Amino acid sequence: MTDSNAPEVDSASPLGVETLEKLRVVLLECELVLISVADEIDLNFEECLAGLTAVRGLVGHTWGAASLLLQNAALQSSWSAGPSRPRAIYARHAAAVKAGALRRAPAQSLIGRLEAELERLPHVDLSQNFSGYRPECTGFVAKTGKRCTNTALYLGAGSFAQHCYSHSAPTERERFRDHQDRQNQALEESWLERQELLRAIGRSIIDDWFQGRRLQPPWLVELADVAISDQRNP
Ligand SMILES: [Zn+2]
Repeated sequence: MTDSNAPEVDSASPLGVETLEKLRVVLLECELVLISVADEIDLNFEECLAGLTAVRGLVGHTWGAASLLLQNAALQSSWSAGPSRPRAIYARHAAAVKAGALRRAPAQSLIGRLEAELERLPHVDLSQNFSGYRPECTGFVAKTGKRCTNTALYLGAGSFAQHCYSHSAPTERERFRDHQDRQNQALEESWLERQELLRAIGRSIIDDWFQGRRLQPPWLVELADVAISDQRNP
């Protein structure tokens, strides 16, 4: 589908794609280290973590586009000179698929599956975790005399109260609050467990960093030497 006159720029090597995948792992490693370093330093690391997470997301997105290139996914002709941005690769592939080409998806990767799992974890609102049919409240709206159309309170384990919160009796409200308390406690516990695991992994990465390896890798010293002498002798 590429323009025959255009230089062949839409390619990716297996080594390149694997390197990007490794970079995602290294970035996650950095995040785990930050989670753990909070045990050593009384600072709020949320901004640092959010920055790293955002970069890891960008690299993951880029890796997906590179994976499409590696699979020789069909692409609509590029509308700009030079290499495409990752999102343009997705768009060009989508356009080619629309025109009848075979759809490809970025390859599966362990880091990708783990990232999806980590994202999903404790941010789920478990009090809303009933996905089937939700009965309506059996109460009546005082002003209009019509049936209330709110959903009945969910009490957990697939059971509902007769009424929505505003029409429910104190006993129903109490059962609802008990259910929410149990959910919140379960959520809190699973979150803490997960944080504890992440912190322990971060700790072992830090130990690895400092065990048997010089804190400053040789390239850092060499590059610093060159850069500093360049500055002295411009
Ligand atoms: Zn109601």
